[in-house]
Amino acid sequence: MQDEAVVLLSGGLDSTVCMAVAAQQHRLWPITFAYGQRHAREVEQARQVAAHFGVARHLVVDCGFFRDIGGSSLTVHHLEVPLGREEAQLGTDIPSTYVPFRNGVFLALAVAYAESVGAATVFIGVNALDYSGYPDCRPQFIEAFQAAVNAGTAAGARGNPITIAAPLLHLDKAGIVRLGARLGAPFELTSSCYLGGEVACGQCDACRLRLKGFREAGLADPIPYAVTPAAGP
Ligand code: ZN
Repeated sequence: MQDEAVVLLSGGLDSTVCMAVAAQQHRLWPITFAYGQRHAREVEQARQVAAHFGVARHLVVDCGFFRDIGGSSLTVHHLEVPLGREEAQLGTDIPSTYVPFRNGVFLALAVAYAESVGAATVFIGVNALDYSGYPDCRPQFIEAFQAAVNAGTAAGARGNPITIAAPLLHLDKAGIVRLGARLGAPFELTSSCYLGGEVACGQCDACRLRLKGFREAGLADPIPYAVTPAAGP
């Protein structure tokens, strides 16, 4: 019998590739958070990705808490999302799109879900190379969270701790695209743009990182863009 795994699925590129990785060896229990993100379109993309993988259940959690507390340009819609930043600048600071301890909160809920369904693994598609500069995407955070899970769950206390798997952690965006292509991840169903329009903007950090990944992997991104910036020098 296949092991069960909970997968944090946002509907973006990284979490969809993470689903494809997890699907190699696990029965999938995807979990998606509707947290008031301006790119709420992601949640619909996540539904389509979950359906693509033929999961028995896709849990969509309403997490309006983040809308209530604010503190991010992704959830406070009158704050500006940075557009047109240079690729070299990405990841060098913590941008306004950072959502306070989002991955900490999401991982905590995903681990609780894993305990309740008897899943031994929680997959999260964070990566620390081509990323937006969010501290809760870094290896030291994943390690620290693993220690908390070991100490704070019944599964951990019984000697069968739930493993936090972050298979994309040390890949760059091109590596993630190549891995997804090899595993047949449905790129065409994903949405990464922070603005969440009908067509991806091509200008926000998420669009720029995604486009950079496809360009460096030598593959075409199947989703449409309003603007496709020229490659840098
Ligand atoms: Zn965008």
